[in-house]
Amino acid sequence: MKFQPNASHFIDGEYAEDAAGAPIEVLYPATGEVIARLHSATPAVIEKALSSARAAQRDWAARTGTERGRVLRRAADIIRARNFELSVIETHDTGKPIQETTVADASSGADALEYFGGLAGSLTGEHIQLAGGDFVYTIREALGVCVGIGAWNYPTQIACWKAAPALACGNVMIFKPSETTPLSALKMAEIFVEAGAPKGVFNVVQGYGGVGATLVTDPRVAKVSLTGSVNTGRKVYAAAADGMKHVTMELGGKSPLIVFDDADLENAVSGAILGNFYSSGQICSNGTRVFVQKGIKDAFLQRLSERLALARIGDPMDALVNFGPVASAQQLEIVTNYIARGKAEGARLVHGGDQLDRPGYYLQPTVFADVTDGMTIAREEIFGPVMSVLDFESEDEVMTRANATGFGLAAGVFTRDLSRAHRVAAGFEAGTCYINTYNLSPVEAPFGGTKMSGVGRENSKLAISHYSEQKTVYVAMNDVQAPY
Ligand code: NDP
Repeated sequence: MKFQPNASHFIDGEYAEDAAGAPIEVLYPATGEVIARLHSATPAVIEKALSSARAAQRDWAARTGTERGRVLRRAADIIRARNFELSVIETHDTGKPIQETTVADASSGADALEYFGGLAGSLTGEHIQLAGGDFVYTIREALGVCVGIGAWNYPTQIACWKAAPALACGNVMIFKPSETTPLSALKMAEIFVEAGAPKGVFNVVQGYGGVGATLVTDPRVAKVSLTGSVNTGRKVYAAAADGMKHVTMELGGKSPLIVFDDADLENAVSGAILGNFYSSGQICSNGTRVFVQKGIKDAFLQRLSERLALARIGDPMDALVNFGPVASAQQLEIVTNYIARGKAEGARLVHGGDQLDRPGYYLQPTVFADVTDGMTIAREEIFGPVMSVLDFESEDEVMTRANATGFGLAAGVFTRDLSRAHRVAAGFEAGTCYINTYNLSPVEAPFGGTKMSGVGRENSKLAISHYSEQKTVYVAMNDVQAPY
């Protein structure tokens, strides 16, 4: 049974529709069938969302943090209780196997709501004592109306990762999902209302990039948090700068994963699989440049092939399937073109490489060996199930090559040498680094990129500073000293 939303948007506590908006067809990536028909937001819908959000924000911010936190924690409980239903929606939206969505999507959203719901009651400003008895206190204030714009790979998680810290701090949110995966955010909006969020606190508007662009430039918007590609990030950051708005940018990557000769082979192979093929490789932080030291290369490639032969590709709703389609026909074409490019530029295809002869957007998990730094597949983000294996000899050499990219989202190292592990982590130019594992992102830890991969951090206590600001109040305890 596929989720049929009552209407395209969710504004001011209820579903809203304007059939004049451009049509959005939601396709199930496993079959290509249309599972829902929605409309992009018209100017009237965008206006309604902005004025509803604006009206709701003052009262929401005036509640105690404990009250706001209670709503978030209730939402987390509802999500957990309905995990399977929400996971099915996520699978229909994205094509990701139900085996993944039941453990990684709604549940990760619930973690964020629970974590920031717990923090909300203890958000404070500071007291700063000055000379002569004067002092300063700071008031932590919400920013106002925040716009969240999401990518299509983790739509539920992205909506929650943005809404949870925003709402905890007393902001309200207008969330625009990717038009490829518009369904789950509507369910989240329903759940927020059920959890007691006042109308207008979490709104969803659907649309193509232009809808996001309109929201970002509206003077009523104080902050924009984008998860998307570097190209979109550039545009959104520039538009936000024009209005001096706060931003969080979670963008793309081409992250290195280094496997030294002394690594635990099985763990290194597991890390490379997780960091390249989970969610059919559509994860921003994936370690898609796998640098393998020469002494372990043959064993690594052999064990990788053996493990990949165990991948079960098929119907994402089958609980035994662990590798699904990519999210859209467009993404299939992009990834297929990169595979062709890899072959043409001389990389050695050692696994997969083909589209599956079945409906839907299925590609085999694909591994290229003997990849060199200059090849397109080693430089550009593919965002699909394609791993590049590169050889290296020394630590110095591999660190220079690992960092020779404009991206800086994530990086990983597998080694049994403790000093080297920490030295390498310290040397990585990346926001999120892993030692002897890959791609875990618990809500307690900051997540985000450096260089072109982003600005700001999601999750952890750090996210609070990206969704609030501190007002300084100077209190004089002495007479005012004026020069004349
Ligand atoms: P896009 O950059 O194409 O789109 C991201 C979102 O921005 C979509 O909702 C899109 O709408 C919207 N958008 C596009 N143009 C504008 C604009 N000018 N103004 C405002 N909004 C706009 O990314 P994808 O959806 O293709 O997602 C894949 C990318 O996301 C990859 O690069 C990946 O690395 C990155 N990503 C980063 C993550 C991170 O945490 N660092 C996590 C997940 C993905 P529409 O879809 O309608 O065009």
